[in-house]
Amino acid sequence: MIRIGDIIEKIETYNPDFDEDLIRKAYIFSAKAHQGQIRLSGEPYLIHPLEVAGILAEMQLDEPTIATGLLHDTIEDTFATYAQIKALFGQEIADLVEGITKISKMSFSSSEDTQAENFRKMILAMTRDIRVILVKLADRLHNMRTLKFQKPENQQRIAQETLDVYAPIANRLGIEWLKSELEDLSFKYILPDAYLTLERKIVKSEKERDHYIEFVKKILTEKLREEGIIADVSGRPKHLYSIFKKMQSQNIEFSDIYDITAFRVIVNTIPECYEVLGIIHNLWTPIPGKFKDYIALPKSNFYQSLHTTVIGPKGERIEIQIRTHEMHKVAEMGIAAHWKYKEGINLDERDDKRFSWLRQLFEYQKDLKNNAEFLETIKIDLFPDEVFVFTPTGEVKSFPRGSSPIDFAYSIHTEVGNHCKGAKVNGRIVPLRYNLHNGDRVEIITHPQAHPSKDWLKLVKTSRARTKIRQWIKTQEREQSIQLGRELLEKETKRYSVNLSHLYKDGSLERVAQAFSLQTVDDLLATIGYGKITSRQIIRRILSFHDGEPEKPEVVEKPFKKILTRITRKDQTSVLIRGEENVLIRLAKCCNPLPGDKIVGFITRGRGITIHRADCDKVLNSDPQRLIDAKWKSGESILHPVRIQTLSTDRRGLLAEITKELSNLGADILSANVQTTEDHQAINQFVIAIKDLKHLNKIIRALNHIKGIVEVKRIHA
Ligand code: MN
Repeated sequence: MIRIGDIIEKIETYNPDFDEDLIRKAYIFSAKAHQGQIRLSGEPYLIHPLEVAGILAEMQLDEPTIATGLLHDTIEDTFATYAQIKALFGQEIADLVEGITKISKMSFSSSEDTQAENFRKMILAMTRDIRVILVKLADRLHNMRTLKFQKPENQQRIAQETLDVYAPIANRLGIEWLKSELEDLSFKYILPDAYLTLERKIVKSEKERDHYIEFVKKILTEKLREEGIIADVSGRPKHLYSIFKKMQSQNIEFSDIYDITAFRVIVNTIPECYEVLGIIHNLWTPIPGKFKDYIALPKSNFYQSLHTTVIGPKGERIEIQIRTHEMHKVAEMGIAAHWKYKEGINLDERDDKRFSWLRQLFEYQKDLKNNAEFLETIKIDLFPDEVFVFTPTGEVKSFPRGSSPIDFAYSIHTEVGNHCKGAKVNGRIVPLRYNLHNGDRVEIITHPQAHPSKDWLKLVKTSRARTKIRQWIKTQEREQSIQLGRELLEKETKRYSVNLSHLYKDGSLERVAQAFSLQTVDDLLATIGYGKITSRQIIRRILSFHDGEPEKPEVVEKPFKKILTRITRKDQTSVLIRGEENVLIRLAKCCNPLPGDKIVGFITRGRGITIHRADCDKVLNSDPQRLIDAKWKSGESILHPVRIQTLSTDRRGLLAEITKELSNLGADILSANVQTTEDHQAINQFVIAIKDLKHLNKIIRALNHIKGIVEVKRIHA
């Protein structure tokens, strides 16, 4: 059983100036917090944090990390709180302990590959301080070493989780010994029979293997000495799980000791590595295709070595790794080998290079800021572009950063997305514009009446959600157009005293659709709605089926009204509805919009689309479902009737001046109304033909300059 004194001694060997008080304080706090608790083994609980701290000291980590090892279960399992730990040990250690607590709360139930990968990523992503992961791995290692005290069903689950999630993380961080031990311990519980058989064979062949190792070692060491190279040569069995995997993948039985022995040559310099390789290839025949140069091309976890396989003295295959002492340290300890962040604050260029491997490790070189900053904070965003969240059933899903609950809803099912009304994140209701965070548990609230809107397109990040929303809107717009087309056509048929339903029944509409090369009557109605074909054209076509020319309706128009009608009708081409020309529109009388005004279309019942100013009261109070995008077509110079009113003193000749000014500015007067009040003021109203808002403003400015004019305004009557 490890004692606090052992841990302190261990730290002293690599960090003589460490803060011993801090470690002792953490030890005492942990001892008090866990007092009375016992482990399943029957031992005092305190053994566990002590062992974890011991493993971390073995990895030569800094005092805050080792203190965290001692405290790591206090928030989760005792009455100790984050605030307490922060008050006693500071923010840094409190955050580390809290980080471990968060990871421990994650439940991992599925062994599906993608799930495991997501979990690994999530753990890494949620842990912005990599030391949290190191403590978690040490914690898991000790729990695996004492797994025999757990119930059998828990053993299976914990071992599988270790193999799926934690061993790959250790591998990713390049800590070889930890990865191997976690794998072997998991293997032992997941496939106990295979494990025991393999272990028995290895034990049985121990003597023979030792002889063989000595034999190869002797030949190699002497040969290297002849060439003037001092090297550590060693041979040892590979770890069980790697032998097992090799047997599985190559579908072979464990036959002899050669298959399970690996040799390693450790030298001082990189040139010596290549020299040793040459000597070995001279001594024994290399097997083609088995040589790998991980010195020139390091693995993503910064592992470096030369690997070769040769035909040995007994005709057997020998696997040999060649590396420097420095590379060996990195291979064994991984990230921890370089964990000297304190010196790192004053980085020189050499250190900068040394740490560049971390960037490779996390494959996000381009997104990391400068190394110095990174080391200063010791916080890394390992997956800056992704967030990982839970479904209510505990499944993990990944999304682009900045995604909203709508993205989540569409990832579940299109219908969930199309009826998404809101979301609960970690049990709380959030708005749809909420940004998903790592570890969020997301639940979607749906409602049959809820449906997508154009605004959603601004909130979503996934292409799936974007596509589905666009699809919905398009379908919706088509339905709107069919509805509008039907109403326009009905209105037109009424003028000819024809019943629309009759035209449906007798197949006339179908024939018209065919005549216009359209598939269905709905297509025809949508085309009318979009204004591509007018309802009058349809009627003419139908009447031509019946061999008759349509009778022109008798319309009696006063000359003045005629002008207005002509002008208004021309306006139809000056407005684009959803980017479409030639849609049947009317300008609303209530607000009388002018080119330049912000406008919106209103789908009336049976009278086409009316164009209102966007700020018109009537629009603001109408059914938003019936509103439709409308825009002025630019570059059109069509005249619009606008009513203006002037207030002035009742001065002789003023009216003449006003009309002169209007004609100078190119505004025809369509009608005029002159009134005089009792207090000798004049109120004049003119309906003038205006090009656009700019034109109108120019006129208003000009009239305002006329002597005697008090006020000029546009009125909507
Ligand atoms: Mn623990």
